[in-house]
Amino acid sequence: MGYKAHLTETCGPEGPNLITDVKTTAATVPDLKVLGSVHAALKERDLLPREHLVDAGYMGSKEMADRLARHGVELFGPMPRDGSWQVKAGEGFDALAFRVDWDAKSVTCPEGKRSKQWKPALNRHGREVVAAIFDKKECAQCPSRPLCTRSKTTGRELTLRPQPLHEALRKARTRQKTREFWEAYHARAGVEGTISQGVRSCGLRRSRYVGMAKTHLQHVITAVAVNVVRLLAWLAGVPRARTRLSAFAKLAPIGC
Ligand code: SF4
Repeated sequence: MGYKAHLTETCGPEGPNLITDVKTTAATVPDLKVLGSVHAALKERDLLPREHLVDAGYMGSKEMADRLARHGVELFGPMPRDGSWQVKAGEGFDALAFRVDWDAKSVTCPEGKRSKQWKPALNRHGREVVAAIFDKKECAQCPSRPLCTRSKTTGRELTLRPQPLHEALRKARTRQKTREFWEAYHARAGVEGTISQGVRSCGLRRSRYVGMAKTHLQHVITAVAVNVVRLLAWLAGVPRARTRLSAFAKLAPIGC
């Protein structure tokens, strides 16, 4: 029900964090559908970032590849987890464990075996994929089989998205395993404070008007008010507040 406000702001080490874009959508629109219009608007104002820190709702391999190709913007955020049983079990060979040679149309598994078939297909959502299929005899004799496939009758079959999407996914899932990623990602916490400021001081949570156009106007005026408050605080030398951590959160290792 209702609407969603999508806020983009600067997050440099110096100066105030200023809101650079405001989008209003129906609440049912998935977050990752908004980035195209956000970047188009930022480009018009010559405010496109090199890296855009976003939460998991805005991350997807297609969005990563599209944003980079169209506007040269690197999306930086946690990619939703792979839903395979290998990842859920916390062991086994997920897609990241395989090496893909796109030119040779071949995949090499962790045991060094090469796929026997490379079949372009459409998945159940009608999107292009490639099925890379390993030889069932080789898989049947493989000591790592319990970590790789549960099929009793066929070899491992790996479903790959097209190359740019696959590589974006690999890049995102690999980097989010590192401490450096989570340390850099902390800069995104500021926008949560912005939403809180909008809600607490400007009533952002409740639309005073009926309809998308007027609700968007309210969101824009709220953003202007937050920017003015921040600029005045900065000119007055008021330091930025630091993100508070609960006692429980302080116990958690970084990245959890
Ligand atoms: S089961 Fe097949 S694909 Fe998996 S590691 Fe063994 S040989 Fe490779």
